[in-house]
Formats: sequence, C-alpha cells, structure tokens
Amino acid sequence: MSKRFFLVALTAASIAAFAQQPKKNRTSPTGYDDTPVLPGQKWKVHDIARPRPHVITPGAKPGDPPSDAIVLFNGKDFSHWQEGGGKDKPAPAIVAWKLENGYMECNLDGGSIFTKEKFGDMQLHIEWAAPAQIDGTSQWRGNSGILLMNRYEIQVLDSWNNPTYADGQAAAIYGFYPPLVNASRKPGEWQAYDIVFEAPVFAGEKLVKPAFATVFHNGVLMHNRKEIGGRMAHKVVGTYAPHAAEEPLGLQNHDTYVRYRNIWVRRLQGYDQP
Ligand code: MG
Repeated sequence: MSKRFFLVALTAASIAAFAQQPKKNRTSPTGYDDTPVLPGQKWKVHDIARPRPHVITPGAKPGDPPSDAIVLFNGKDFSHWQEGGGKDKPAPAIVAWKLENGYMECNLDGGSIFTKEKFGDMQLHIEWAAPAQIDGTSQWRGNSGILLMNRYEIQVLDSWNNPTYADGQAAAIYGFYPPLVNASRKPGEWQAYDIVFEAPVFAGEKLVKPAFATVFHNGVLMHNRKEIGGRMAHKVVGTYAPHAAEEPLGLQNHDTYVRYRNIWVRRLQGYDQP
C-alpha cells in the first residue's frame, strides 16, 4: 500500500466514523402555522394549534384494561350485571350464572345477562372459554354470544374441529357473516375477542346508518368494519327495529357452560378530533 493511498483510506475511515457518532440534543418544531390546510379538515398539515390526544395509561400487558376503560368484570363480582328474564319479567338478580376462580360461568336453566350500564359505539375486550368436556355437536358445543346492544350477536362457540354452519361459528356475525378465518383454540382454553362496534342510527322508524363491527379473535382479524344486517335471528333474516342510541351489552345463555373473564369497554364518543 502506498503512503498516499494509506492516508486517503485513513481519512475516509475517520469521516465515516465521525458520521456514525450519535447526534445528541437535536430539537424539532412542535408544530407549524405556515403549512397548507388539509382537505376536508380545518387543520393545517402538522398544525401547531391542533389539540393533542388525551393521555391514557395502557394496560400492563396485552388484554389488560387501559386507564380509560370501564371494567365490567374483573372476576370478583356481578356488580355491573343483571339477569334478564324477558321484558315481562325483569330479574335483576343473577341466578343462572355462577362466580368462581376469577371467572363467571353460564349455569343453565336461566336467562342471559346484560349490563346495567348502556353503551353505543364501543371498543370491547372479552375473554371466554368453552367447556373442556365436549358434549354435543355443532351449535351444542359451548354456545353463547356477545350481544351488542343486547341484540347484534358475535357468536361464541367451540369451533375447534366442530363443523357447523359458517355464519354460526365462533366470531361470526351470527346469521350474516362467517369470520374470515377460524382461529379457535381447543375447548377449555381461554380465548379473546376484541371488538370495535359502531351502533346503528335511527331517525324515528327509519334506519339511517346500520351497525358495523370490527372483530379480532385471539388477535386475528375476523371482520373489518363489516356491516351488520340486523339483530340476531335463527333460520330467518334478522332485521332492524328502532331502539335507543345506547343499550346494554348482553352475554347469551344458550344452555352450555361457557365461561367469561376480563371484560372491559371503552366508550368511543368524545375522542373524535373537532
Ligand atoms: Mg350464540
């Protein structure tokens, strides 16, 4: 190697080493007021005046409730729930569901349960387990359901190696759409749904906007903002009938021993940017 080439190589190496030094104490503007206005919005690009989102604390691990969630069931009591005996015989006491070991279990011979609080648009996290002991076929294997607004059902079913009609398997929008895939765990294992629900809108008797659901089953996308055709119905097409802007969240009692734990919701109103 010539002396000159050695010096050039050494200088190049020095420059490269300098360029790799971490840059510290760099600053950046916290926004701008000289940028164009975004189409359809009142804000400019990177608008310095645009309100920043609320600060919340996320759960310690995936599935844990964030700080702005309403915890509907933490394994300790039924304080957020009541049992429905039908509109002619409201039965606030929980008699058909039992509480043990941090979960609730549908205990047959009774009604579905629903929340005392009512909800419209929401994010829902809920964990469930079908009975470990297989006893039945098709719709008689761990049948329950997440009853959004007490009427639009995301099916709960033991769909592990259990043939049944596609729009009635686990994570189906019951009676309308099968899930995109079957991500079911074995019976007895805990499974999770994460649901984003948009409530329907009525103007008097008229449906102005249908309901939509985005559903994840065990972290896997099942429905991407899918339109819900109407209330849950069996062997007929479910339809819409006007109801309030907020309704209770229900858990279906379908005479099978399904368990639930770790249930929380976040109301979605109030988060939209102006
Ligand atoms: Mg069901």
